[in-house]
Amino acid sequence: MMRAGFREWSGRVLTVASCLWLISFSGAAGAEWHRFSDTAMTTPIELEFWAEDEDLAEKVGEEVLAVFHQVDEQMSRYREDSEVSRLNRNAANGPVTVSDDLFAVLEKAREVSVLSDGAFDITFGSVGYLYDFRAGKKPTEEQLQSGLPRVNFRDVILDQGAQTVEFRQEGILVDLGGIAKGYAVDLGIERLVSSGIRHARLSAGGDMRLLGDKRGRPWYVGIRDPRSEGRNAVVLPLQDVAVSTSGDYERFFMDEAGDRVHHILSPETGKSVQGVQSVTIIGEDALTTDGLSTAVFVLGPQKGLEMIERLKGIDVVVIDDQRMMHVSERLVPPQSD
Ligand code: ADP
Ligand code: MG
Repeated sequence: MMRAGFREWSGRVLTVASCLWLISFSGAAGAEWHRFSDTAMTTPIELEFWAEDEDLAEKVGEEVLAVFHQVDEQMSRYREDSEVSRLNRNAANGPVTVSDDLFAVLEKAREVSVLSDGAFDITFGSVGYLYDFRAGKKPTEEQLQSGLPRVNFRDVILDQGAQTVEFRQEGILVDLGGIAKGYAVDLGIERLVSSGIRHARLSAGGDMRLLGDKRGRPWYVGIRDPRSEGRNAVVLPLQDVAVSTSGDYERFFMDEAGDRVHHILSPETGKSVQGVQSVTIIGEDALTTDGLSTAVFVLGPQKGLEMIERLKGIDVVVIDDQRMMHVSERLVPPQSD
């Protein structure tokens, strides 16, 4: 594990980045960057990509945005008619057959739960549903105690052969808020790739994926200062990766005691996790980085970094409640001596 102050570290990264500026290409006539934005999954969606053909760009852009609405319709817990709501209503009565999409997300959720020893747990829903961040509402201690026995990812039984899901007890509520946006970002990128796009940036709130570079230079991805909206804690030059950030500033309110009540909950206590302000994960696909960013947030800097160091091709930046930055080995800047 490595700790470094914001300024010193970001300075190093920018030095490396400035060398990469030197390479540049010129584009074909008529080709340009195309930008689309929307709101879906209660999050701003932003898409930017390079295309040579105006009509194709328009069509592909619309299709990518449609992916987010489709995943929302399948996986939102706020929609009574979503596949997830149907699962929550029926899976305690016997196996429920689910779509390829939902099964893929549930399998990844289980993998991240096992890796994080239950810090990531989609069944946190039975306590999570007791919060309303917009209304500033949190559950009482008694409500938490009655919900917690139903928080256990091991009670969600996945049958790969039959592609069914069954709950081992009544009252389980799964909530895919910590992982579904990453899945949608991956589907959107697949759509772009199959249309021949080679340079793109697609983000849904804190989940982003970069396709290729920005034509001759890297994409610059800012990790926000968790306590100052307009300021970056660090800027990373990146290409061809997924980046997910989980923060305690996305959905929160301050309670009567002055404590921050936010949307990332400990499956052990049902309360907002303290000790971390934000976690950013860099990896290959957004489904994985989305799940892992929430998992590391719950685990905290020490256990979180230990988990990440065991995984290949995954990096992490944690900003703790003292505003110290912890980064995985591969992100540590070279030491000058
Ligand atoms: P966002 O991009 O919306 O900020 P995150 O990836 O940081 O989302 O995940 C936060 C969301 O994850 C919460 O809004 C909630 O839906 C869900 N969540 C909260 N705690 C947990 C947990 N311990 N395990 C799995 N999912 C969680
Ligand atoms: Mg997440």
